[in-house]
Amino acid sequence: SAEAILRRQRARESSARTYARSFPVVPARAYGMTVEGADGRRYLDCLAGAGTLALGHNHPVVTEAVRRTVDSGAPLHVLDLATPEKDEFTDALFATLPPAFADKARIHFCGPAGTDAVEAALKLLQTATGRHGLLAFTGAYHGMTAGALAVSGGVAAKRPVPGTAADVTRLPYPYSYRCPFGVGGERGARLSAAYTERLLDDPNGGVVPPAAMILEAVQGEGGAVPAPDDWLREMRRITAEREIPLVVDEVQTGVGRTGAFWAIEHSGIVPDAMVMSKAIGGSLPLAVVVYHEDYDGWLPGAHTGTFRGNTLAMAAGTATLRYVAREGLARRAAAVGARLTDRLTALRAELPAIGDVRGRGLMIGVELVDPAGTPDACGALPPAPDTAVRVRSAALERGLIVELGGRYDSTVRLLPPLVITDEEAEAVLDRLADAIAEATA
Ligand code: PMP
Repeated sequence: SAEAILRRQRARESSARTYARSFPVVPARAYGMTVEGADGRRYLDCLAGAGTLALGHNHPVVTEAVRRTVDSGAPLHVLDLATPEKDEFTDALFATLPPAFADKARIHFCGPAGTDAVEAALKLLQTATGRHGLLAFTGAYHGMTAGALAVSGGVAAKRPVPGTAADVTRLPYPYSYRCPFGVGGERGARLSAAYTERLLDDPNGGVVPPAAMILEAVQGEGGAVPAPDDWLREMRRITAEREIPLVVDEVQTGVGRTGAFWAIEHSGIVPDAMVMSKAIGGSLPLAVVVYHEDYDGWLPGAHTGTFRGNTLAMAAGTATLRYVAREGLARRAAAVGARLTDRLTALRAELPAIGDVRGRGLMIGVELVDPAGTPDACGALPPAPDTAVRVRSAALERGLIVELGGRYDSTVRLLPPLVITDEEAEAVLDRLADAIAEATA
């Protein structure tokens, strides 16, 4: 029974398990935005595999690609051998990239997760530049392996292990609600850029010569915090002028989620490397780093791994990339996302526990606060992580799966599939508004 499965897994799994703890549901079936529990209850899934399921659960385009590949007799695991599936995937992926980047790009297939691709990118650029320092941002999240963790900002429980972050210089991300310089908006972002530039040029700044700067154009785990386009262009200028390679982590923002196929398109910046995972595998594990050919400084065998691209994931990924492009799902994400964000912003008038609503496309954050607390210099109220936990449970009772995140664990994050219908979007709004009202009553 579902109860027995929940009980047994609770007893046997590590105490670090997360989603199984917040969502005591044993899923039996899933399709589109819906997850059906073994008890027949249905949930609207705004977690969608932590932003992996661009096309929702078990989209026919994906399941047919997988079935076709299995039936073809193609080898499912072949290390990094040349295969038609890899060729097609690379073509499909490069076709989605801005030509200014794709024309001189190389691809490296990494271990199966986003963190593997981050690790590969950092190591590649450390090798190519002969430097080992790294520039990273407050509130960032790049993964759980040592290098990726070192450039993460310590969001929520995912803190760096002491000692891993020695050569990382952490810079202030322009988080306009909890403004690092006490001023928000464009002015706060300009201060962040000015600080970065001054620090890099300060011989007494203690910056270890950097092999790379790594950033997310919209911080995901950090609470769906979008960086202003001007700030991103400033980071590109500052790094280019100092010959510091810029890595953009598009693990969560990619494949249409932010309302453009890739989040870099909003600002028009061309990075030196892009890290991709999650949606590119069409719900199967796949991760790559794509980078400028000038940095291809590895000797054969310099970065290996048993799982470097999986045939099924490549087939599912190709089908997903093509479908998102063909159906214009990035535009749909922009439109539905804007409507959700506007409606949630309007709810602030009735629900004072909503401190901030932000995001880009279908990567949305609702930061919950203590309305009775004292505002900071920017007018931000104290974060309310306990309220957020109650909202998550109240939402689940109403058949809505939402996850929390953000620097203070106080942000409800919405990452619905890009195929969300208008009716589903309305239902998400209604259930979330009810959940917040109940949790703060
Ligand atoms: N980078 C970003 C921006 C992410 O959001 C994540 C995962 N949430 C990662 C890297 C790490 O990916 P994975 O969990 O697959 O290792």
